Amino acid sequence: MNDSAQVVVIGGGQAGLAAGYHLRRAGLDFTILDAQPTPGGAWSHGWNSLRLFSPARHSSLPGWPMPVHPGEGHPTAEHVVDYLTAYEKRYDLPIHRGETVTAVESTGDGLLVTSDSGQWHAGAVISATGTWWRPFLPTVPGAFAGRQLHAVDYRSPGDFADQRVVVVGGGNSGAQIAADLTGAAHVTWVTRRPPRYLPDDIDGRALFDIATRRRHALDRGEEDTAGVGGLGDIVAVPPVRAARDQGHLTPHPMFTRLDPDGPVWADGHRAHADTVIWCTGFRPALTHLAPLRLRAADGTVPTDGTRARGEPRLHLLGYGDWTGPASATLIGVGRTARDAAADISDLLGGEPHHGGAVPDQRRT
Ligand code: FAD
Repeated sequence: MNDSAQVVVIGGGQAGLAAGYHLRRAGLDFTILDAQPTPGGAWSHGWNSLRLFSPARHSSLPGWPMPVHPGEGHPTAEHVVDYLTAYEKRYDLPIHRGETVTAVESTGDGLLVTSDSGQWHAGAVISATGTWWRPFLPTVPGAFAGRQLHAVDYRSPGDFADQRVVVVGGGNSGAQIAADLTGAAHVTWVTRRPPRYLPDDIDGRALFDIATRRRHALDRGEEDTAGVGGLGDIVAVPPVRAARDQGHLTPHPMFTRLDPDGPVWADGHRAHADTVIWCTGFRPALTHLAPLRLRAADGTVPTDGTRARGEPRLHLLGYGDWTGPASATLIGVGRTARDAAADISDLLGGEPHHGGAVPDQRRT
Protein backbone atom coordinates (compact mmCIF):
# COMPACT_ATOMS: atom_id res chain seq x y z
CA MET A 1 0.00 0.00 0.00
CA ASN A 2 1.29 3.45 -0.85
CA ASP A 3 -0.82 6.06 0.93
CA SER A 4 0.71 8.85 -1.08
CA ALA A 5 -1.14 7.71 -4.24
CA GLN A 6 -4.65 7.55 -2.78
CA VAL A 7 -7.38 10.03 -3.67
CA VAL A 8 -10.96 10.22 -2.35
CA VAL A 9 -13.52 11.99 -4.54
CA ILE A 10 -16.57 13.22 -2.63
CA GLY A 11 -19.64 13.32 -4.87
CA GLY A 12 -20.54 11.05 -7.79
CA GLY A 13 -22.40 13.48 -10.04
CA GLN A 14 -20.95 14.66 -13.36
CA ALA A 15 -18.03 16.45 -11.64
CA GLY A 16 -17.09 13.37 -9.60
CA LEU A 17 -17.23 11.17 -12.73
CA ALA A 18 -15.05 13.58 -14.72
CA ALA A 19 -12.58 13.52 -11.82
CA GLY A 20 -12.61 9.71 -11.88
CA TYR A 21 -11.92 9.66 -15.62
CA HIS A 22 -8.84 11.87 -15.29
CA LEU A 23 -7.55 10.25 -12.09
CA ARG A 24 -7.68 6.91 -13.88
CA ARG A 25 -5.75 8.35 -16.83
CA ALA A 26 -3.18 9.79 -14.43
CA GLY A 27 -2.68 6.27 -13.03
CA LEU A 28 -3.84 7.28 -9.57
CA ASP A 29 -5.65 5.06 -7.09
CA PHE A 30 -8.98 6.57 -6.10
CA THR A 31 -12.45 5.96 -4.82
CA ILE A 32 -15.66 7.99 -5.21
CA LEU A 33 -18.12 8.39 -2.33
CA ASP A 34 -21.63 9.51 -3.22
CA ALA A 35 -24.58 10.18 -0.95
CA GLN A 36 -27.19 9.17 -3.54
CA PRO A 37 -28.35 5.56 -3.85
CA THR A 38 -28.46 5.83 -7.67
CA PRO A 39 -26.36 7.55 -10.40
CA GLY A 40 -27.03 10.95 -11.94
CA GLY A 41 -26.34 13.47 -9.17
CA ALA A 42 -28.74 16.41 -9.23
CA TRP A 43 -30.06 15.45 -12.67
CA SER A 44 -32.18 12.71 -11.02
CA HIS A 45 -34.01 15.29 -8.94
CA GLY A 46 -35.06 18.10 -11.29
CA TRP A 47 -38.58 18.97 -12.40
CA ASN A 48 -40.23 16.78 -15.04
CA SER A 49 -39.82 19.18 -17.97
CA LEU A 50 -36.15 20.03 -17.22
CA ARG A 51 -33.95 19.89 -20.30
CA LEU A 52 -30.38 20.84 -21.10
CA PHE A 53 -29.77 24.27 -22.56
CA SER A 54 -27.50 22.71 -25.22
CA PRO A 55 -27.61 19.81 -27.64
CA ALA A 56 -25.93 16.54 -26.64
CA ARG A 57 -22.79 17.26 -28.67
CA HIS A 58 -22.11 20.30 -26.45
CA SER A 59 -22.86 18.51 -23.18
CA SER A 60 -20.26 15.76 -22.98
CA LEU A 61 -17.93 14.61 -20.26
CA PRO A 62 -14.33 13.74 -21.15
CA GLY A 63 -13.64 10.66 -23.25
CA TRP A 64 -17.13 9.69 -24.40
CA PRO A 65 -19.58 12.04 -26.14
CA MET A 66 -23.16 12.13 -24.89
CA PRO A 67 -25.29 10.05 -27.31
CA VAL A 68 -27.69 12.09 -29.42
CA HIS A 69 -31.06 12.59 -27.76
CA PRO A 70 -33.59 10.55 -29.76
CA GLY A 71 -36.55 12.91 -29.39
CA GLU A 72 -37.09 16.52 -30.44
CA GLY A 73 -35.34 19.38 -28.70
CA HIS A 74 -32.44 19.38 -26.29
CA PRO A 75 -31.76 16.33 -24.11
CA THR A 76 -34.06 15.70 -21.15
CA ALA A 77 -32.74 15.31 -17.60
CA GLU A 78 -33.58 11.60 -17.92
CA HIS A 79 -31.27 11.38 -20.95
CA VAL A 80 -28.48 12.98 -18.89
CA VAL A 81 -29.04 10.48 -16.05
CA ASP A 82 -28.88 7.60 -18.56
CA TYR A 83 -25.64 9.03 -19.95
CA LEU A 84 -24.04 9.45 -16.51
CA THR A 85 -25.15 5.93 -15.54
CA ALA A 86 -23.60 4.46 -18.68
CA TYR A 87 -20.49 6.64 -18.29
CA GLU A 88 -19.60 5.33 -14.85
CA LYS A 89 -20.15 1.75 -16.06
CA ARG A 90 -18.12 2.31 -19.22
CA TYR A 91 -15.09 3.48 -17.24
CA ASP A 92 -15.77 1.09 -14.35
CA LEU A 93 -15.45 3.92 -11.87
CA PRO A 94 -15.17 2.75 -8.23
CA ILE A 95 -18.20 4.45 -6.65
CA HIS A 96 -19.58 3.77 -3.18
CA ARG A 97 -23.19 4.89 -3.13
CA GLY A 98 -25.37 5.81 -0.20
CA GLU A 99 -22.30 7.15 1.58
CA THR A 100 -22.58 10.71 2.91
CA VAL A 101 -19.32 12.38 3.86
CA THR A 102 -19.66 14.35 7.07
CA ALA A 103 -16.12 15.63 7.62
CA VAL A 104 -12.70 16.09 6.04
CA GLU A 105 -9.84 16.73 8.45
CA SER A 106 -6.10 17.16 8.15
CA THR A 107 -4.02 14.45 9.82
CA GLY A 108 -0.69 16.06 9.04
CA ASP A 109 0.44 13.45 6.52
CA GLY A 110 -2.89 13.30 4.69
CA LEU A 111 -6.60 13.93 4.89
CA LEU A 112 -9.09 11.89 6.88
CA VAL A 113 -12.50 11.58 5.25
CA THR A 114 -15.35 10.57 7.56
CA SER A 115 -18.63 9.32 6.13
CA ASP A 116 -21.75 8.01 7.83
CA SER A 117 -20.36 4.50 7.50
CA GLY A 118 -16.61 4.76 7.83
CA GLN A 119 -13.36 6.67 7.47
CA TRP A 120 -10.88 6.94 4.65
CA HIS A 121 -7.26 8.12 4.69
CA ALA A 122 -6.32 9.95 1.52
CA GLY A 123 -3.28 11.68 0.15
CA ALA A 124 -5.63 14.11 -1.60
CA VAL A 125 -9.36 14.82 -1.78
CA ILE A 126 -11.52 16.17 -4.57
CA SER A 127 -14.77 17.69 -3.34
CA ALA A 128 -17.48 17.60 -6.04
CA THR A 129 -20.69 17.78 -4.04
CA GLY A 130 -22.60 20.35 -6.13
CA THR A 131 -25.15 22.91 -4.97
CA TRP A 132 -28.56 21.25 -5.43
CA TRP A 133 -28.44 19.96 -1.88
CA ARG A 134 -28.30 23.44 -0.36
CA PRO A 135 -31.25 25.39 -1.75
CA PHE A 136 -31.24 29.04 -0.74
CA LEU A 137 -34.39 30.88 0.43
CA PRO A 138 -34.21 34.58 1.31
CA THR A 139 -35.79 35.81 4.51
CA VAL A 140 -38.90 37.87 3.84
CA PRO A 141 -40.94 39.31 6.71
CA GLY A 142 -44.49 38.11 7.27
CA ALA A 143 -46.35 34.87 7.81
CA PHE A 144 -47.75 33.37 4.62
CA ALA A 145 -50.58 30.88 5.19
CA GLY A 146 -50.23 29.12 1.82
CA ARG A 147 -47.68 26.62 0.59
CA GLN A 148 -44.03 27.59 0.06
CA LEU A 149 -41.47 25.48 -1.73
CA HIS A 150 -38.07 25.84 -3.34
CA ALA A 151 -37.46 24.94 -7.00
CA VAL A 152 -35.82 21.69 -5.84
CA ASP A 153 -39.27 20.46 -4.76
CA TYR A 154 -41.15 21.56 -7.90
CA ARG A 155 -42.12 18.69 -10.22
CA SER A 156 -44.90 19.57 -12.66
CA PRO A 157 -47.61 22.19 -13.40
CA GLY A 158 -50.35 19.63 -12.72
CA ASP A 159 -49.58 19.91 -8.99
CA PHE A 160 -50.71 23.57 -9.10
CA ALA A 161 -53.71 23.39 -11.43
CA ASP A 162 -55.85 26.57 -11.26
CA GLN A 163 -53.86 27.88 -8.30
CA ARG A 164 -52.51 31.40 -7.93
CA VAL A 165 -48.77 30.83 -7.89
CA VAL A 166 -46.07 33.40 -7.22
CA VAL A 167 -42.75 32.38 -8.76
CA VAL A 168 -39.81 34.28 -7.26
CA GLY A 169 -36.51 34.52 -9.11
CA GLY A 170 -35.14 36.06 -12.30
CA GLY A 171 -32.68 33.30 -13.19
CA ASN A 172 -33.02 30.13 -15.24
CA SER A 173 -35.05 28.18 -12.67
CA GLY A 174 -37.52 31.04 -12.18
CA ALA A 175 -38.02 31.60 -15.91
CA GLN A 176 -38.32 27.88 -16.66
CA ILE A 177 -40.79 27.15 -13.85
CA ALA A 178 -42.87 30.26 -14.59
CA ALA A 179 -43.01 29.17 -18.26
CA ASP A 180 -43.84 25.58 -17.26
CA LEU A 181 -46.81 26.74 -15.15
CA THR A 182 -48.25 28.87 -17.94
CA GLY A 183 -51.65 27.52 -18.91
CA ALA A 184 -52.07 25.43 -15.75
CA ALA A 185 -51.90 28.09 -13.04
CA HIS A 186 -52.29 31.86 -12.65
CA VAL A 187 -48.67 32.92 -12.42
CA THR A 188 -47.17 36.08 -10.97
CA TRP A 189 -43.46 36.15 -11.80
CA VAL A 190 -41.42 38.23 -9.36
CA THR A 191 -37.82 39.23 -10.07
CA ARG A 192 -35.45 41.39 -8.03
CA ARG A 193 -34.34 43.20 -11.18
CA PRO A 194 -35.71 43.18 -14.72
CA PRO A 195 -35.02 39.76 -16.28
CA ARG A 196 -32.01 39.67 -18.58
CA TYR A 197 -32.26 37.11 -21.38
CA LEU A 198 -29.12 35.90 -23.09
CA PRO A 199 -29.30 36.25 -26.89
CA ASP A 200 -31.60 33.51 -28.23
CA ASP A 201 -28.82 31.76 -30.17
CA ILE A 202 -26.56 31.28 -27.13
CA ASP A 203 -26.20 27.67 -26.03
CA GLY A 204 -23.88 25.68 -23.78
CA ARG A 205 -20.95 25.76 -26.20
CA ALA A 206 -21.06 29.57 -26.40
CA LEU A 207 -21.41 29.84 -22.61
CA PHE A 208 -18.35 27.66 -22.20
CA ASP A 209 -16.32 29.79 -24.62
CA ILE A 210 -17.37 33.01 -22.88
CA ALA A 211 -16.50 31.60 -19.44
CA THR A 212 -13.12 30.39 -20.73
CA ARG A 213 -12.28 33.78 -22.25
CA ARG A 214 -13.11 35.46 -18.96
CA ARG A 215 -10.86 33.08 -16.99
CA HIS A 216 -7.96 33.64 -19.38
CA ALA A 217 -8.41 37.43 -19.14
CA LEU A 218 -8.39 37.25 -15.34
CA ASP A 219 -5.33 34.97 -15.37
CA ARG A 220 -3.49 37.52 -17.53
CA GLY A 221 -4.43 40.27 -15.07
CA GLU A 222 -6.69 41.94 -17.64
CA GLU A 223 -9.97 43.67 -16.93
CA ASP A 224 -12.85 41.40 -15.87
CA THR A 225 -15.06 40.77 -18.91
CA ALA A 226 -17.90 39.77 -16.53
CA GLY A 227 -18.21 36.53 -18.52
CA VAL A 228 -21.65 35.02 -19.05
CA GLY A 229 -23.11 37.20 -16.29
CA GLY A 230 -22.28 40.27 -18.38
CA LEU A 231 -24.56 39.03 -21.15
CA GLY A 232 -27.60 38.04 -19.12
CA ASP A 233 -28.99 35.54 -16.64
CA ILE A 234 -31.56 33.50 -18.54
CA VAL A 235 -30.82 31.05 -21.33
CA ALA A 236 -33.76 31.38 -23.71
CA VAL A 237 -34.52 27.65 -24.00
CA PRO A 238 -37.48 26.98 -26.35
CA PRO A 239 -40.28 26.82 -23.69
CA VAL A 240 -39.01 30.04 -22.05
CA ARG A 241 -38.72 31.73 -25.43
CA ALA A 242 -42.25 30.68 -26.37
CA ALA A 243 -43.77 31.84 -23.06
CA ARG A 244 -41.86 35.12 -23.25
CA ASP A 245 -42.83 35.78 -26.88
CA GLN A 246 -46.50 35.02 -26.12
CA GLY A 247 -46.41 37.60 -23.33
CA HIS A 248 -46.77 35.12 -20.46
CA LEU A 249 -43.55 36.11 -18.69
CA THR A 250 -44.38 39.54 -17.34
CA PRO A 251 -41.99 40.38 -14.51
CA HIS A 252 -43.11 42.09 -11.29
CA PRO A 253 -40.73 43.72 -8.82
CA MET A 254 -39.85 41.96 -5.57
CA PHE A 255 -42.46 42.30 -2.82
CA THR A 256 -41.53 43.54 0.63
CA ARG A 257 -43.54 41.16 2.82
CA LEU A 258 -45.72 38.08 2.76
CA ASP A 259 -49.07 38.42 4.50
CA PRO A 260 -51.08 35.26 5.24
CA ASP A 261 -53.00 35.87 2.00
CA GLY A 262 -50.02 36.59 -0.28
CA PRO A 263 -47.32 39.12 -1.18
CA VAL A 264 -47.50 42.84 -0.46
CA TRP A 265 -45.44 45.36 -2.46
CA ALA A 266 -43.82 48.58 -1.21
CA ASP A 267 -46.56 50.70 -2.83
CA GLY A 268 -49.26 48.82 -0.88
CA HIS A 269 -50.33 46.71 -3.85
CA ARG A 270 -51.12 43.09 -2.86
CA ALA A 271 -51.93 39.79 -4.53
CA HIS A 272 -53.72 36.66 -3.38
CA ALA A 273 -51.54 33.56 -3.62
CA ASP A 274 -52.02 29.86 -2.89
CA THR A 275 -48.37 28.99 -3.38
CA VAL A 276 -44.98 30.72 -3.51
CA ILE A 277 -42.20 28.91 -5.39
CA TRP A 278 -38.75 30.22 -4.48
CA CYS A 279 -36.37 29.94 -7.44
CA THR A 280 -33.72 31.81 -5.54
CA GLY A 281 -30.66 29.72 -6.13
CA PHE A 282 -28.29 27.51 -4.25
CA ARG A 283 -25.20 27.60 -2.10
CA PRO A 284 -22.25 25.21 -2.45
CA ALA A 285 -22.74 22.03 -0.39
CA LEU A 286 -19.53 22.30 1.61
CA THR A 287 -20.54 21.43 5.19
CA HIS A 288 -18.22 18.41 5.17
CA LEU A 289 -15.22 20.74 4.74
CA ALA A 290 -16.02 22.76 7.89
CA PRO A 291 -13.24 21.14 10.00
CA LEU A 292 -10.63 22.51 7.55
CA ARG A 293 -11.85 26.09 8.16
CA LEU A 294 -11.24 27.19 4.60
CA ARG A 295 -14.43 29.06 3.78
CA ALA A 296 -14.42 32.74 2.86
CA ALA A 297 -17.17 35.15 3.90
CA ASP A 298 -19.04 34.53 0.62
CA GLY A 299 -19.38 30.81 1.43
CA THR A 300 -16.88 29.63 -1.22
CA VAL A 301 -13.39 28.21 -0.60
CA PRO A 302 -10.63 30.42 -2.05
CA THR A 303 -8.86 28.45 -4.78
CA ASP A 304 -6.00 28.68 -7.24
CA GLY A 305 -7.60 26.92 -10.17
CA THR A 306 -9.28 23.96 -8.46
CA ARG A 307 -6.81 23.71 -5.56
CA ALA A 308 -7.86 25.10 -2.17
CA ARG A 309 -5.51 27.92 -1.27
CA GLY A 310 -5.39 26.92 2.39
CA GLU A 311 -5.08 23.14 1.84
CA PRO A 312 -3.07 22.03 -1.21
CA ARG A 313 -4.30 18.43 -0.87
CA LEU A 314 -7.88 19.52 -1.47
CA HIS A 315 -9.40 20.32 -4.87
CA LEU A 316 -12.91 21.55 -5.63
CA LEU A 317 -14.78 20.77 -8.84
CA GLY A 318 -18.13 22.06 -10.07
CA TYR A 319 -20.05 24.49 -7.79
CA GLY A 320 -19.52 27.57 -10.02
CA ASP A 321 -17.00 29.48 -12.09
CA TRP A 322 -14.89 30.05 -8.98
CA THR A 323 -13.44 26.54 -9.47
CA GLY A 324 -12.65 27.20 -13.16
CA PRO A 325 -14.43 28.33 -16.32
CA ALA A 326 -17.82 26.60 -16.63
CA SER A 327 -16.72 24.02 -14.06
CA ALA A 328 -20.37 23.56 -13.03
CA THR A 329 -21.44 22.49 -16.53
CA LEU A 330 -21.22 19.17 -18.36
CA ILE A 331 -19.02 20.56 -21.09
CA GLY A 332 -16.76 22.58 -18.79
CA VAL A 333 -16.01 20.23 -15.91
CA GLY A 334 -13.75 17.94 -17.97
CA ARG A 335 -11.06 20.55 -18.31
CA THR A 336 -11.05 21.49 -14.63
CA ALA A 337 -11.08 17.79 -13.67
CA ARG A 338 -8.04 17.22 -15.89
CA ASP A 339 -6.20 20.11 -14.21
CA ALA A 340 -7.08 18.81 -10.73
CA ALA A 341 -5.88 15.28 -11.55
CA ALA A 342 -2.61 16.62 -13.02
CA ASP A 343 -1.99 18.75 -9.95
CA ILE A 344 -2.72 15.84 -7.59
CA SER A 345 -0.48 13.57 -9.64
CA ASP A 346 2.37 16.08 -9.23
CA LEU A 347 1.65 16.41 -5.52
CA LEU A 348 1.49 12.70 -4.73
CA GLY A 349 4.05 11.42 -7.22
CA GLY A 350 5.20 7.90 -6.44
CA GLU A 351 4.18 4.63 -8.02
CA PRO A 352 0.74 4.66 -9.58
CA HIS A 353 -1.77 2.36 -7.90
CA HIS A 354 -4.70 0.49 -9.35
CA GLY A 355 -7.91 -0.39 -7.54
CA GLY A 356 -9.86 1.54 -4.92
CA ALA A 357 -8.45 3.51 -2.02
CA VAL A 358 -8.17 1.44 1.13
CA PRO A 359 -11.03 1.79 3.60
CA ASP A 360 -9.84 2.35 7.12
CA GLN A 361 -11.67 1.64 10.42
CA ARG A 362 -14.92 0.93 8.60
CA ARG A 363 -17.79 0.66 11.00
CA THR A 364 -20.90 -1.34 10.35
P1 FAD B 1 -24.36 17.28 -8.54
O1 FAD B 1 -25.02 16.83 -9.77
O2 FAD B 1 -25.19 17.96 -7.50
O3 FAD B 1 -23.65 16.00 -7.90
C1 FAD B 1 -23.06 16.06 -6.63
C2 FAD B 1 -23.16 14.69 -6.01
O4 FAD B 1 -22.52 14.77 -4.74
C3 FAD B 1 -24.59 14.23 -5.76
O5 FAD B 1 -24.77 12.90 -6.18
C4 FAD B 1 -24.74 14.38 -4.24
O6 FAD B 1 -25.62 13.46 -3.67
C5 FAD B 1 -23.32 14.12 -3.77
N1 FAD B 1 -23.06 14.70 -2.46
C6 FAD B 1 -23.41 15.93 -2.00
N2 FAD B 1 -22.96 16.08 -0.74
C7 FAD B 1 -22.31 14.92 -0.40
C8 FAD B 1 -21.63 14.47 0.75
N3 FAD B 1 -21.52 15.22 1.85
N4 FAD B 1 -21.11 13.21 0.75
C9 FAD B 1 -21.20 12.43 -0.36
N5 FAD B 1 -21.84 12.83 -1.50
C10 FAD B 1 -22.37 14.06 -1.51
N6 FAD B 1 -25.32 22.43 -16.78
C11 FAD B 1 -25.15 22.15 -18.10
O7 FAD B 1 -24.05 21.84 -18.53
N7 FAD B 1 -26.21 22.23 -18.96
C12 FAD B 1 -27.46 22.55 -18.54
O8 FAD B 1 -28.38 22.63 -19.33
C13 FAD B 1 -27.67 22.82 -17.14
N8 FAD B 1 -28.90 23.08 -16.66
C14 FAD B 1 -29.09 23.23 -15.32
C15 FAD B 1 -30.38 23.44 -14.83
C16 FAD B 1 -30.60 23.59 -13.47
C17 FAD B 1 -31.99 23.81 -12.94
C18 FAD B 1 -29.50 23.54 -12.59
C19 FAD B 1 -29.72 23.72 -11.08
C20 FAD B 1 -28.22 23.34 -13.05
C21 FAD B 1 -27.99 23.18 -14.42
N9 FAD B 1 -26.71 22.95 -14.93
C22 FAD B 1 -26.54 22.74 -16.28
C23 FAD B 1 -25.53 23.03 -14.06
C24 FAD B 1 -24.88 21.70 -13.66
O9 FAD B 1 -24.53 20.95 -14.82
C25 FAD B 1 -25.71 20.85 -12.73
O10 FAD B 1 -26.03 21.59 -11.58
C26 FAD B 1 -24.97 19.56 -12.30
O11 FAD B 1 -25.85 18.75 -11.60
C27 FAD B 1 -23.73 19.82 -11.45
O12 FAD B 1 -23.03 18.60 -11.32
P2 FAD B 1 -22.11 18.29 -10.05
O13 FAD B 1 -21.52 16.96 -10.25
O14 FAD B 1 -21.21 19.45 -9.80
O15 FAD B 1 -23.14 18.28 -8.81
